[in-house]
Amino acid sequence: MKSIDALPFTHSFGALPAAFHTRLMPTPLAAPYLVCSSPAVARLIGLDPDALTRPAVIEALAGNRVPHGAAPLAAVYSGHQFGVWAGQLGDGRAILLGGVATAAGTLELQLKGAGPTPYSRMGDGRAVLRSSIREFLCSEAMAGLGIPTSRALCVTGSKQLVMREAPESVAVATRVAPSFVRFGSFEHWYYQDRPTELKQLADYVIDHFYSELRLGEHAQENPYRALLSEVSRRTAVMIAHWQAVGFMHGVMNTDNMSILGLTIDYGPFGFMEAFDAGHICNHTDQQGRYAFHRQPEIGQWNCYALGQALLPLIGSEEETTDALAIYQPTFIQTLDALFHAKLGLLTQAPQDKALIDDLLALLQANHTDYPLFWRRLGDLLIDQPQADAPLRDLFLDRPAFDQWAQRYRARLQSEHSRDPARKQQMDRVNPKYVLRNYLAQIAIEKAQNDDFSEVARLLSVLEKPYDEHPNHAAYAALPPDWANDLEVSCSS
Ligand code: AMP
Ligand code: MG
Repeated sequence: MKSIDALPFTHSFGALPAAFHTRLMPTPLAAPYLVCSSPAVARLIGLDPDALTRPAVIEALAGNRVPHGAAPLAAVYSGHQFGVWAGQLGDGRAILLGGVATAAGTLELQLKGAGPTPYSRMGDGRAVLRSSIREFLCSEAMAGLGIPTSRALCVTGSKQLVMREAPESVAVATRVAPSFVRFGSFEHWYYQDRPTELKQLADYVIDHFYSELRLGEHAQENPYRALLSEVSRRTAVMIAHWQAVGFMHGVMNTDNMSILGLTIDYGPFGFMEAFDAGHICNHTDQQGRYAFHRQPEIGQWNCYALGQALLPLIGSEEETTDALAIYQPTFIQTLDALFHAKLGLLTQAPQDKALIDDLLALLQANHTDYPLFWRRLGDLLIDQPQADAPLRDLFLDRPAFDQWAQRYRARLQSEHSRDPARKQQMDRVNPKYVLRNYLAQIAIEKAQNDDFSEVARLLSVLEKPYDEHPNHAAYAALPPDWANDLEVSCSS
């Protein structure tokens, strides 16, 4: 385990031509301190977790000094925002330090909120403590759930203020991912009509992250087509996981879509609680473009936008369309497999689609708490409907639940399902703990009053969301009434 100045930084993205980025220094943060950190992510990048409390490390991760070997830069990209071409965006407040070679491949470190860049437009280059804690906790919660995501090493804070709806204290989140290249990074060069840079970026991404498309026994005749297909496939898998767990991203603009199929750029995200398929977690999204039930379709729309940008490299519209065709079947099959696992079903039967669709309609009609429903479903005993009370109590229309449960029991019997084994298997896929909005809110309010213990406690639970945490069972309970009035601010 090393200190931050001994990390073996490499700079593959920085080695791209100057047009791809701007080299610059982070802007120092006044009197920074550590708010929270993930020992697991520290270990992942070979950093001594205890070192994160040292002033020299905090200074480096707050952007007050550049760690030895790092070469800070901000990347340029563009994107479609809310379905409309937005032109150039870029890292307006995120600064890349470089990559670190790890057992899991090279992982890049990025400081989000580390000051203005040439891509800040009207922004101040900062991120507030509230949104930084939300991103930190959600990144690690998603990783704990087994969903592809960028990671979060730590948040450093300061008493320095920036103006949002009200003055708020600023923070810097250190994000970690193999790459932060986005769909919008490709759109940038396509819409600027710069085919040389478009090809350089595609070759960079293929060579570093999809080398199997070009080398070895699976080498593809048209690697650009294969890239589009593989990115579409990964995106479909990622979004199937979102739908199964009830995650809502909130801002699925093409500049927030990872070329690696990772969940990135956590903003006004949410986890489904009282089930409503049409739920919109982003209050500025008045049309509901990014409502929960539209995420699969938007993911596909975004892949089409990427396809448009890659078309000059792929060569023909027909091949581009062919490459994109993988999205829908992958999404359907992945989600179907995830729902089967959530139901504890080991086989496929013709009636399963109706069983799942009718369940979702039932959850919708009753606004049933989504995580609690799935976790309690694992406790169902095939031969004892009279023991259903904790599950049944989640429904207002109990006879409707009973009817569905009868069909579910019959289906379980048809594959000779055994209660204990099924519960064990279901508990591995139906998390007991998700990052409910109000839990994040409590942790944030305490942190705003300099008590960071709740963030650390929540992290320890969310890192292992499928386990029982007897001391923290309250985190799995229904939200309190005040949580209903909670509005997540979109400003970050
Ligand atoms: P987002 O909606 O967070 O994905 O951000 C969209 C674009 O706005 C990106 O280019 C961000 O870098 C930029 N941006 C968001 N907030 C700020 C800020 N406070 N200062 C500078 N740029 C920002
Ligand atoms: Mg973004």
